Amino acid sequence: AVSIDDLVAWIRRFRDAVQQHKDELTRLDSEIGDADHGSNMARGLDAVVARLEPAPADAAELFKTVGMTLVSSVGGASGPLYGTLFLRMGPALASDEVDAAALGAALRAGVDGVVARGKAELGDKTMIDALSPALDAWDAAAADGLAAAARAAAEAAARGRDATEHLVARKGRASYLGERSAGHVDPGAASATLLLEALRDTLA
Ligand code: ADP
Ligand code: MG
Ligand code: MG
Repeated sequence: AVSIDDLVAWIRRFRDAVQQHKDELTRLDSEIGDADHGSNMARGLDAVVARLEPAPADAAELFKTVGMTLVSSVGGASGPLYGTLFLRMGPALASDEVDAAALGAALRAGVDGVVARGKAELGDKTMIDALSPALDAWDAAAADGLAAAARAAAEAAARGRDATEHLVARKGRASYLGERSAGHVDPGAASATLLLEALRDTLA
């Protein structure tokens, strides 16, 4: 089962991955947005990590802190969207025994929250194009355990991210470019893939 220490380690790992890929995320956003996705996410996650000492008592407290901090410290569209994802995950993880099915259900509650807030559908060239296939892959592999589910989800997220390159953006800033948004990977789909890769590496 997943412990609170695992969940905290996941968030720290996500911060580290975003720091490592900060320039790349910003470069992607410079092509179809306003060149701030790397710095937005890095700033938000630094603020999150600063609030993880002392360690939160349980998943509900952890994800409330993560979500509220992202909403309040990231100016861009991604702050409220990632914030919503984490804020919705906490209550869904109330059970003591967090197995692959429970974590999958919590991730789905989080992504459903992002869709409710941002109204993006699959194929709109957003973070949803990485997150939604990742959740389906998670569910399909959940019977094989946490590590297998996380591996399948990370792979599906990466494929979804890569597939955004050919899409025309229909949500967010990139949609202002219309057809000219095609030919570039969506920065939010790239950061969402880092989130799932961080989970895979934590649960390996
Ligand atoms: P901003 O566009 O405000 O500068 P960021 O650059 O931090 O914010 O984040 C941009 C990313 O947010 C996009 O690449 C996209 O993945 C995601 N995004 C934007 N609008 C939406 C939406 N309505 N639903 C889901 N994701 C969205
Ligand atoms: Mg931006
Ligand atoms: Mg911006």
